[in-house]
Amino acid sequence: MVRILIVEDETKIAIFVKKGLVDVGYKVDIVGTGEDALDLINDDKKYNLIILDLMLPDSNGFDICKRLRSNNIQIPILMLTAKNAIEDKIKGLEIGGDDYLTKPFAIEELVARVHALLRRGASRFDNGIIKVGDIVLDIHSHEVSRGEKLIELSQKEFSILEYMMKNEGMVLTRSMIEDHAWDYELDGFSNVVDVYIRLLRKKIDEGHKHKLIKTVRGVGYKIKA
Ligand code: CA
Repeated sequence: MVRILIVEDETKIAIFVKKGLVDVGYKVDIVGTGEDALDLINDDKKYNLIILDLMLPDSNGFDICKRLRSNNIQIPILMLTAKNAIEDKIKGLEIGGDDYLTKPFAIEELVARVHALLRRGASRFDNGIIKVGDIVLDIHSHEVSRGEKLIELSQKEFSILEYMMKNEGMVLTRSMIEDHAWDYELDGFSNVVDVYIRLLRKKIDEGHKHKLIKTVRGVGYKIKA
């Protein structure tokens, strides 16, 4: 049974969305505040997908999304907003939202996005295992291996590698990596991200003919098989 949580304070919209999803066979719960959402979602198992409104009475969807991701909860998140600003969309995706829908929307559109996200979620991080080429990363046991070899990583290195692998093929800027792996603001001139990438390369790519971590000149880094 696929379970979906709707986080939306506008009752009319919440009920409209719920009806559309129940009609296609999903089990749906609704909460109206960010606090209630965070109380309900303690792990990856209870819900298969979250539909998250950006404007909530006690908080905003960006913060909720950020807190879920920093607690290592990787349930796909579809964000809803009345705004159509491109910077909101980028921000939402940068902090770990998976897709974005602007109000007003047709219910068919929402259902289609939900289907797509569930399909993607199921195939991508099944059992907490992420693979890129011959690197295998286990989100739960924090083990990383390449080919037959187990690789020892520090917490920071693991966090950066996990972020890159989840976004395989996508260029991640230094500031995106920073925001993801550090809770505090780094000194603007700091090259700490480059230092960590160098460490990761040494452990992941050194001695392998096929290098997986790539530099995108002037932009950032990506990992690709
Ligand atoms: Ca709202």
